Amino acid sequence: MNGIHDIGIQNSLAENLDGLIKNGRLPHAIMLRGGSEALRQRLSLFLAEAFVCEGDSKPCGKCSHCLKAQSGNHPDIITADPSVQGEKTFKIALVREIKDDAYIIPNEARSKVYILRSADKMNIQAQNALLKLIEEPPTYARFILECDSSAAMLETIMSRVTLFDLGADKDEISDELRKKADETAARLAAAILQPTEYEFMKITAEFEKDKNLFEPTLPALQLIFRDAVIIKAVSDITLSGHADISRQAASKLTMNALMKMTREIDNFRESINRNANKNLLITRFCAVMRSSAYER
Ligand SMILES: [Zn+2]
Repeated sequence: MNGIHDIGIQNSLAENLDGLIKNGRLPHAIMLRGGSEALRQRLSLFLAEAFVCEGDSKPCGKCSHCLKAQSGNHPDIITADPSVQGEKTFKIALVREIKDDAYIIPNEARSKVYILRSADKMNIQAQNALLKLIEEPPTYARFILECDSSAAMLETIMSRVTLFDLGADKDEISDELRKKADETAARLAAAILQPTEYEFMKITAEFEKDKNLFEPTLPALQLIFRDAVIIKAVSDITLSGHADISRQAASKLTMNALMKMTREIDNFRESINRNANKNLLITRFCAVMRSSAYER
């Protein structure tokens, strides 16, 4: 195994992690966010190896634990990856499997490490199940959550994990743009509840001037409607930070409309990922969202 500086993460992050490992202070629940999937996986394996290593400077790369970790055969490094099972989401059943396994003491190492790929694909129920486990884990258990974005993660999960940002892979989204996207999403959601489409169209027109704004606005908008769905269905728990708008949407729109809108936003996000023409998408966006909200 090469050193932490060979993984391809930013220097500052490598320094930070290196310090934590050397001082034996690597947190028991870690979230690796952003970067490419491959980068997250390389770092997860490195950290897992550091967790199980019995050498002096961890991971030493030479002890039996390190060697097994490198060959992917360490019995105490467990990877949960929904895509391996052909699943698009990280199901609660998989979280329960992890939970059951976590209470069985390690086979060989002092720690038992769980790598959770695509943790951001967990729904609320799955996240809540995971929360219970990482809140009061067996002393030897370690968790590494990999995710592309943490936008859909519960606040309570975020407060229990130590977050390490690997940075955006290709087109980095600045904090400033993210904030603007969040505000725009809130304005869009409020506008769709207006009786006329004037305000909604006006905001959509801003995307034509600032095309970079469209993409990060979609997940933020989706979160507001997802919150509305949850408010309508079960309880007043919100994730988006725009609880008022979600509550209004929940009271003004039908469940079908809310579900349809979150699905449509999914479609738009997929189209962007497939590099569809953004101008056309923005034009369609207005019509599709309005009709999803109000069609019977
Ligand atoms: Zn070792």
